[in-house]
Amino acid sequence: MSARELAEAVRAGSRSARQVIEEALARLDAAAPLNAVADHDAERALAEADALDAARAAGESLGPLAGVPVILKDNLWDAGVECSAASESLVGFFPPDTATVVRRLRAAGAVVLARGNMDELGMGSLTARSRFGPAKNPHDLRRSPGGSSGGNAALVAAGVAPIAIGSDTGGSVRQPASWCGVYGLRPTRGLLSRWGLVALASSMDTVGVITTNPEDLACCLDVMLGADPLDQTTTPRPPWRLDVALREPPRGLRVGLLITPGAEAAPEVSAQVQRAAAALSAMGAIVDGVRLVGLPEALLAYTALCAVEAASNLARFDGQRFGRPAAGDDAEAQARDARARFGDEVRRRVLLGHAIGADRHRRALAAQGRITEAIIGHLDHHDLLICPTTPTVAAHLDDAEAGRLADLFTAPASLAGRPALSLPFGVVDGLPVGVQLIGRAYGEEALFTAAAALHRQGASVPEAVEVQPRL
Ligand code: GLN
Repeated sequence: MSARELAEAVRAGSRSARQVIEEALARLDAAAPLNAVADHDAERALAEADALDAARAAGESLGPLAGVPVILKDNLWDAGVECSAASESLVGFFPPDTATVVRRLRAAGAVVLARGNMDELGMGSLTARSRFGPAKNPHDLRRSPGGSSGGNAALVAAGVAPIAIGSDTGGSVRQPASWCGVYGLRPTRGLLSRWGLVALASSMDTVGVITTNPEDLACCLDVMLGADPLDQTTTPRPPWRLDVALREPPRGLRVGLLITPGAEAAPEVSAQVQRAAAALSAMGAIVDGVRLVGLPEALLAYTALCAVEAASNLARFDGQRFGRPAAGDDAEAQARDARARFGDEVRRRVLLGHAIGADRHRRALAAQGRITEAIIGHLDHHDLLICPTTPTVAAHLDDAEAGRLADLFTAPASLAGRPALSLPFGVVDGLPVGVQLIGRAYGEEALFTAAAALHRQGASVPEAVEVQPRL
């Protein structure tokens, strides 16, 4: 059942929020083999559901997500609930406030069901580097669900909850969505507040959404967006009609099918992208091929810029302000102890970030400028660009090389500050394929029009492992 159908049932009183959440908790238990959960508090979720049922009984009208179970990535603040971002360094950190996006979701009636497993501090593409251990892909338990929001995508794909909220810096919502056969949106930066999101690389961090269909994606975005005094980079609500955009046929939409010399996806993945472009064309979109060079350089630039910003952001984890106090007699010894709590990948990136001098930093910024200009140039003549989300289908859990290349097609939109949506389209060897749509800044309407049109075609997602009772 979709999030909107669930909410409608709860609003109409044909199901109680408690009943919905009890069933979701049963599915959460059944999904234990996925190791996709960082933490959950059944009592609290049921109390939230009871409060909704009581409000309805008192005659209050409930919001658009009434009683809908939602998964939060373990890097989003929920006041008083441990938020470790899957890192030993943040064990014992109980945030003093709730992330703005989470507060807005609750105001719309959503119930927080669980916190999703992730790569430590958002660094990775496999959800293999986590203090909770690796998460699994519900389409094949030997494979990774992607990362870093892998737990989120796995739980939505397995039907445990219809919505998960994650974060996307270089692809951490789109890439796991693609590997798990669900929808993932990285919105235009500024639409969603980052207040209460543990920072990775602040210039590219965005909150993102994972769902099973474009309508739920739009509904979720709609209740969370808008200016927030707690995040000065947020912008006011755009004058959109996402409900209209979802229904509109893609007739006349100008779509650029990206040809990316030097950056190839597996042929069977490219074939699905071509098929999606052809389907849009058959529905009246105007599709042409456009060249985008420099993806490998963009990936290197992303890696450098992400490391520089992460090294700076992580300096605040000094063993004094967050989590358990570090051992040691002076600040230096405590800082050393705090650093020792980081996992290998985090340490590697902090070292890399500090090792990047002004010259290399400038070159990375120049490469970011080039890819941004090229993308914006194409978007002058197109409403959206289409390309693979990832070079391959879901990798095996220990396939470090696939993890390294997983951001090849997602990093460009991050570097260019443009919104991007991954939608499931087609199946290869029983595994889902993700097609990525990249739009203009605040151009989400075009993304939703195209995604909804392809969804109506029946995007053919393979069945994930059965988690009973079905959503
Ligand atoms: N896989 C990317 C990385 O490891 C993306 C991370 C992210 O978006 N949080 O940096």
